Amino acid sequence: MSTNQTPYIGENSPLNRITTYFNALQSSAEEYLFVVDLDTNIFLLSDNFVKDFDFPANVVDDFDNLIMPFIHHDDREIFDKAMKDILSESKIKPITCEFRLLHSNGEYGWVNLNLMLGSDEYNQPLIFSGIIRRLDTPVKADNVTGLLKRNVFYADLQRELESHLNPHGAVMVIGLDNFNVITETYGHKFGDTAFRQIAQNITNVLPPDIRLYKLDGYMFGLFMPDAMPEEIEIIFASVQLCMREIRNVEDTIYCTASAGTAFYPSDANDVITLTRYAEVALEIARQKGRDQVAFFERETYDRWRYDIGMQNLMQNSIARGCEEFFLCYQPQVDAKDGRLLGAEALLRWYDQDGSVVAPMQFIPMLEKSRMIIPVGHWIIENAVITAKKWQKYMPDFQMSINISLYQLEERMFFPFVQDCLERHQIDPGTLTFELTESQRVYDWEFVNQQFSAFHDLGIKIAMDDFGTGYSTLGFLKNFNCDIIKIDKVFVDDILKSSFNKNLVKYTIMLCHSIGMEVCIEGVEEEDVYLYLRDECKADQIQGFYFGFPEREEVFERRLKNKS
Ligand code: C2E
Ligand code: CA
Ligand code: CA
Repeated sequence: MSTNQTPYIGENSPLNRITTYFNALQSSAEEYLFVVDLDTNIFLLSDNFVKDFDFPANVVDDFDNLIMPFIHHDDREIFDKAMKDILSESKIKPITCEFRLLHSNGEYGWVNLNLMLGSDEYNQPLIFSGIIRRLDTPVKADNVTGLLKRNVFYADLQRELESHLNPHGAVMVIGLDNFNVITETYGHKFGDTAFRQIAQNITNVLPPDIRLYKLDGYMFGLFMPDAMPEEIEIIFASVQLCMREIRNVEDTIYCTASAGTAFYPSDANDVITLTRYAEVALEIARQKGRDQVAFFERETYDRWRYDIGMQNLMQNSIARGCEEFFLCYQPQVDAKDGRLLGAEALLRWYDQDGSVVAPMQFIPMLEKSRMIIPVGHWIIENAVITAKKWQKYMPDFQMSINISLYQLEERMFFPFVQDCLERHQIDPGTLTFELTESQRVYDWEFVNQQFSAFHDLGIKIAMDDFGTGYSTLGFLKNFNCDIIKIDKVFVDDILKSSFNKNLVKYTIMLCHSIGMEVCIEGVEEEDVYLYLRDECKADQIQGFYFGFPEREEVFERRLKNKS
């Protein structure tokens, strides 16, 4: 029978009797449906099938052949077999198979076909029906929380943005902090239950017309038309309360949430950018210490992007053997007579445009990303090579190298240093490691142990930035070091501040009494130098008054002229 003529279903055909049901069913189902009169082999297909697959007609009597060109070549046998199986008398169970169908957009998509036989009261097969489900369409709801997922969130937000002339409101993304630790500690089953409970609790505290969506991982999303920052803060405060309520049988589980918010139209007015900005704000809330909500700020975002860009560039630079890094050297002199003792190696980095970036801009990032480990090796290797070279001009030349606490935590650090000293045949007594302030240290015992090990090798240890951060008097009690370096902030106005005068003077006295030397940093003027020398009895001075950090070749000229 030709396809351009619709076959006649027949008045007494079972298809005729079920057409009404079929129509009702097809208008409410998302699947594609068909029924077949086994007597006439006429197929009745749902409208959505005809539309989505550009199928020739709703009623056909040659379905098997008509559908073949739509089925992927490799899957035709699978389909054929299923159609034969459903008709074989032994098969009374539904038949299921999967194959690829050619969609009207020209692409193949996987579908699942479910076939079922329908018999009359004498058990004679009359019809069979088929349900085709697309397997490539995204699932709309999350199966743990029951919340609608990101694709629906985007679609709903899009609709909201389009439904008003001047839409304004907020997009909020809520992320559970460290929830994976809970899953790892108590198992996935408990993790899922707790996550479902949190989702439910949050839903309950939201205004009734605000819907919660499940985004990727342990993240939720919502949007709130007309919301002002104060309302977002109130909502977040309720979310924080929800988080306090999750419990295990034995333990109270402590888990916090952070959130980020972007406003439309002020921050952006398209779905994707708004959501991304809210996620950026979430990241910022986490960086600020979690358990808080942050609002998107263009300035922070630009800085953040700059940092990420710089991080990538540094990563590439490290992969090329720390190519764009270099060391500058700043003189350290004997306070008594201004005689050169050595230098501190200070790291610099060339940005893409050739400009030199100062370490305060990138060291925290290197530490956070642990890139300080490979760069730290490079610094030591190069500072040692330079020191060895300069000891030709000045045999007791002292090289000070900054060591971040993160480097000490790396187990391979000590053997690396040992090997480096060996390879370059340098006297360890001519090296000083300056422990620079980094983020919080948890294992002081290990850090001290490491420093003792370096001490045993003969390397001197200096406590940097004394008077700030971790580097305090209390710390000296437990820490094994040879030199303390007093920070520039105490030196800047020393001649005007009697507090700073006394602090520096008595710290030096105290250090001398326990056998430590003191180096004063940031000395820029002669009268300050003279005060530190005569009144305070400082041991060493480092500051612009005696020299800026200089490039290797510039500093080298200084030594050559001396020798
Ligand atoms: P820091 O270890 O306290 O180094 C001294 C800093 O003070 C240097 O800044 C130096 O240029 C500056 N300075 C020295 N004398 C004066 C002065 O008279 N006046 C003023 N205004 N500044 C003076 P720089 O090179 O920018 O280094 C900043 C910090 O970055 C260092 O502070 C150190 O904590 C860190 N850093 C530098 N190089 C390295 C490195 O190779 N490894 C590690 N982990 N950190 C480094
Ligand atoms: Ca230093
Ligand atoms: Ca310092």
